[in-house]
Amino acid sequence: MAEQKRDYYEVLGVSKTSSDDEIKKAYRKLAKKYHPDMNPGDKEAEKKFKEASEAYAVLSDAEKRRQYDQFGHAAFDGSAGAGAGGFDFSGMDMGDIFGDIFGDLFGGGGRSRNSNGPRRGANLRATVRISFEEAVFGCEKEIEIVLKDECTKCNGTGAKPGSSPVTCTKCGGKGKIVYTTQSLFGTMQNVQTCPDCNGSGKIIVDKCPDCHGTGYVSSKKRISVSIPAGIDSGQSIRIREKGEPGVNGGPRGDLLVEVYVSRHPIFERRNFDLYSTVSMTYAQAVLGGELRIKTIDGEVAYDIAPGTPTDTRIRLKGKGVPSLRDKNTRGDHYVNLVVDVPTSVSKEAQEALRHFDELTSNSLKNNSGLAKEEEKTDKKKKKKGFF
Ligand SMILES: [Zn+2]
Ligand SMILES: [Zn+2]
Repeated sequence: MAEQKRDYYEVLGVSKTSSDDEIKKAYRKLAKKYHPDMNPGDKEAEKKFKEASEAYAVLSDAEKRRQYDQFGHAAFDGSAGAGAGGFDFSGMDMGDIFGDIFGDLFGGGGRSRNSNGPRRGANLRATVRISFEEAVFGCEKEIEIVLKDECTKCNGTGAKPGSSPVTCTKCGGKGKIVYTTQSLFGTMQNVQTCPDCNGSGKIIVDKCPDCHGTGYVSSKKRISVSIPAGIDSGQSIRIREKGEPGVNGGPRGDLLVEVYVSRHPIFERRNFDLYSTVSMTYAQAVLGGELRIKTIDGEVAYDIAPGTPTDTRIRLKGKGVPSLRDKNTRGDHYVNLVVDVPTSVSKEAQEALRHFDELTSNSLKNNSGLAKEEEKTDKKKKKKGFF
């Protein structure tokens, strides 16, 4: 930007009164001369090509040309505040700008050369199911995937060894076909991928018997997946370069392994915390004492206070799921303590309960208490939640 910009008309070697056709012709000549495909590695040519393309981008557009005529380069320099609405050339695809004349510039060859450059292969997807514990503590899993590799028999050409692909007659080996149509705005040119050779420019007559002309062979591969502690259902692990093979020497795509975590019969997971429910007897709730609680790390002893009401939630700090970033940082385990009400008890226990009820109820005096539904309900209210 600091460099002094040359006048666009001067760049293209045309006059200010040149017609659109003259501008196009001038640009075509320069583009042909300086195109990077024609001058590989020539930085000066590349610079000239970009300069000409930029000039053409402006002068071939009636509105931009008008702004340029009025404000000069400042028209497109945001900082100049010329009010013309600056626009940035740097991010522009020059290929798009001159796409309409590109077809006859290189007969489509320039474009197909681009698409025949090294390209990264597509990503592959796979899934793996792991247990709840495996997700919490991490694990190694082997998965089987079908992986494509370049055919070794034909070295990826697809042609039978000893034969070679022939030039596609439909596109003349360019891989592209240029269609010219007349429209209201003049001659339009569309560049399309050749349907006969799919843009490769080559037709395989004698197909390789191993890959049937595709150039690739598929085989089942076992891949070891390292699953980090703390992973959750629906998250994916990326394994670099285990996807589809690249094209023309490009790197392979990645393998994305989506993880499904099985449910646990006891624990429920929310983010990095675990939740479970543990029963205590009425006597334990009233008297307090030691409770054995199952955690993901095994059983722990927990002392409950005398008079612990049902639905008390306790927190076991650091007994949750490790963080994916640091497995020493763990969530918590929340335990819901509920009083277990037995559906049937022995005669002896019934006696003991009646006796207990007599001892703890103030309103027992003249009735049999436990026998009558309404009174049971009544007492329940008084006792606030127990029984
Ligand atoms: Zn082959
Ligand atoms: Zn073709």
